[in-house]
Amino acid sequence: MRMLLVEDDDVIARELWLRWQRSNWVAEIAGTLSAGSAALAQGSFDLIVLDLGLPDGDGLAWLGQLRERDRQTPVLVLTARDRVSDRVHGLRTGADDYLVKPFAVDELDARIEVLARRAQLARGDLAAFGALSWLGQEGCAYAAGKRLELSPREFEVLGMLIRRAPRLVPKRVLIDALAERNLEVGDSAAEVYVSRLRRKLAGSGTVIRTLRGFGYVLELEDGEVAKKDRG
Ligand code: CA
Repeated sequence: MRMLLVEDDDVIARELWLRWQRSNWVAEIAGTLSAGSAALAQGSFDLIVLDLGLPDGDGLAWLGQLRERDRQTPVLVLTARDRVSDRVHGLRTGADDYLVKPFAVDELDARIEVLARRAQLARGDLAAFGALSWLGQEGCAYAAGKRLELSPREFEVLGMLIRRAPRLVPKRVLIDALAERNLEVGDSAAEVYVSRLRRKLAGSGTVIRTLRGFGYVLELEDGEVAKKDRG
């Protein structure tokens, strides 16, 4: 995960940077709003952690401007302003979450994880069904925490099935979606990929059912319903 930390307190910035580095989160630190803008102009971030009191202005005004052109990137506001009216104003300006200083770093990390996951879900980069999880950006999928060895076509097919599960994926839709990703397959090849994928999902508690003439459905195996209901 790539984050932008806009914070002028060197002690906090350094502590967080070191901590996140150990979790393999890459953070770029901006000590001013203009440095934050410059960092955003250089590249994109998965998440922004924003202090409000900065030497060159107010973080909320900066956030308001950011939201005019970017509604997607999650922003977590980190500030000493602790009045309810401050929090409400922050959230209305476009903050996705708000944490008051002094804060517990474990709580900050947990909130960051929630925001990042929510953003991934919104982008369709993350999907789960039964014991299966599919991470579009990372290009990997897991069954009960164990990584599945998949070809690019199998990976895309699984992603479509999981995102739509337990609804039907028409065969035509599947073939077109692969073609869009430059992974062309013919009609009969699609069946080959699905059957290979089906073998790789054996024991995962999920099955790919073929509805002849229609398409494919990813379903929970008999007996897995209870597990699903438990969440
Ligand atoms: Ca500050």
